[in-house]
Amino acid sequence: MNPDHEDQPAGPGTTVDPGWVAWPETDARRYRAAGFWTGDTFADLLRRWAQQHGGRTALVDGDRRWTYRQLDDAADRISAGLRRLGLRRGDRVVLQLPNRAEFVEIWFGLQRLGAVPVHAMPGHRRAEIAHLAALSGAAGYVVADRHARFDYRTLATQVYGERRTADEPLRHVVVLGDPADSGFTSYSGLHDGPPEQPATADDDPRPTAADLALLLLSGGTTGLPKLIPRSHDDYAYNARSGAEICRLGPDDVYLAVLPIGFNFTFACPGVLGTLMAGGTVVVAPNPSPATAFRLIEQERVTCTALNPPLVPYWFAEYADSRPDLSSLRFVQVGSARLADELARRFTPTLGVPLQQVYGMAEGLINYTRLDDPDELVCTTQGRPGSPADEIRVVDPADGRPVPPGEPGELHTRGPYTLRGYYRADASAAASFTPDGFYRTGDLVRQLPSGHLTVVGRVKDQINRGGEKIAATEVEGHLLAHPAVRQAALVGVPDEQWGEAPAAVLVCAGPPPTAAEVVAFLRGRGLAAYKLPDRVECVDAMPLTAVGKIDKKVLAQRLAATMVTTGPDA
Ligand code: AMP
Repeated sequence: MNPDHEDQPAGPGTTVDPGWVAWPETDARRYRAAGFWTGDTFADLLRRWAQQHGGRTALVDGDRRWTYRQLDDAADRISAGLRRLGLRRGDRVVLQLPNRAEFVEIWFGLQRLGAVPVHAMPGHRRAEIAHLAALSGAAGYVVADRHARFDYRTLATQVYGERRTADEPLRHVVVLGDPADSGFTSYSGLHDGPPEQPATADDDPRPTAADLALLLLSGGTTGLPKLIPRSHDDYAYNARSGAEICRLGPDDVYLAVLPIGFNFTFACPGVLGTLMAGGTVVVAPNPSPATAFRLIEQERVTCTALNPPLVPYWFAEYADSRPDLSSLRFVQVGSARLADELARRFTPTLGVPLQQVYGMAEGLINYTRLDDPDELVCTTQGRPGSPADEIRVVDPADGRPVPPGEPGELHTRGPYTLRGYYRADASAAASFTPDGFYRTGDLVRQLPSGHLTVVGRVKDQINRGGEKIAATEVEGHLLAHPAVRQAALVGVPDEQWGEAPAAVLVCAGPPPTAAEVVAFLRGRGLAAYKLPDRVECVDAMPLTAVGKIDKKVLAQRLAATMVTTGPDA
């Protein structure tokens, strides 16, 4: 706890970055008084963990291991290297790395500098990265050389070219691995330089816990994805409350299976929660169950986090290879709805307790508790992580609370839920109620115990096994095709992913084939997970009473594979 934290203001304009909306001072004061916000920055926290747990193993990646002291030292070196490069406190830096320990090193290096990591996903391509860089006004971009047969240096060259002359130019690209002839800075050069001497080299004021610490990407519902601002205070609490619920301690070993920059993997309680508890984070280089099982046995992993599509693969691989999973205390499953039937089979099949997690990068995280009865664990997605999380379940049409137990839209407010998107346009205000509740767009039922069951969605988003697709973003790209007059992206049930995107088009002249549509979208630099699995051309769209495309009807027709021609067919 930082003893000065009571004095830190938390209103807009108190940070070096005016682009984000902080909590009103009355709430901020309440969260501090309750001890939810401790006034520590992530740079301070790492230093303290190094003092407390110095020689313990913090991080494992293959046969490479970092003690807490080594991780702290690496953060100093990287921060110094970034400063030599010309990056400064408050600069935003897009971080796009696969699951490698260096993600954690550089994340803390940025924190020590007071710079702000922007979490991109490895699957993002030119359209997403250019948008993230422009919206955040990123001064830096960190990539791997190659991963999963994709050359990120080529992507970085494109984005760098586009952003070099912008008002807020992209000034530096750092490459983990071989920069080849890209002309970009090598990560090892940054890392291997002298560590900064904090007293003499740091001429910027130190960041405070009320400052912007990182930017997460929203799944998006309208237009292009938005950026979610998270402060040191709120994000540290996000991780700490999760660590408390999961009872993490120094003997815990967390396996990062899902993308490490994903909020679920990084802070629910994930990487940060494990480090806070003095435990060990093991990075899985790929999400395959065989890799996970090998690492669980080798490192005596105690907990990990999966998305629902991975669960059947775990079952199948377990039946084949019968790994020793006895070190696991629990496995979290979240980011999309886990079918009750799979949840019920989980523990009998794997012999490991299940924890369901339902949350959002915007804030609120719900967990089933480790001592909850089986029925709650198998049929609900948990209850809020903090006693200060405020929940309303309302009729989406008029915002009035529904009777207890009835389905309604979840609205939430609390000590780690945002009050506004970063540099948001006016349309983003619709995501919040006038009294500061975030409208999640999820339909839930709440039980008397406080547990929530996710029953559907009112937002125009497709959840492909945990990867979120904003329908309007892809529709915008589809409409750019010269033959397309109208476009709708709709989620259809999918055995593997739970839900998959399908595009319905009205075309002028001969319609493009599905393969042509997909190639067109790829050419526009769209990430592969957003590409429609199915493309259907119709003569006209079904319309609602107010003349909007009726996506419910389209989804029903697609699900029944009955898309035919015409609105009344
Ligand atoms: P993200 O911000 O990418 O984590 O996405 C958040 C959204 O994912 C939520 O608003 C939900 O729509 C969905 N989601 C996350 N976890 C679950 C879950 N356990 N069950 C159902 N939907 C979920």
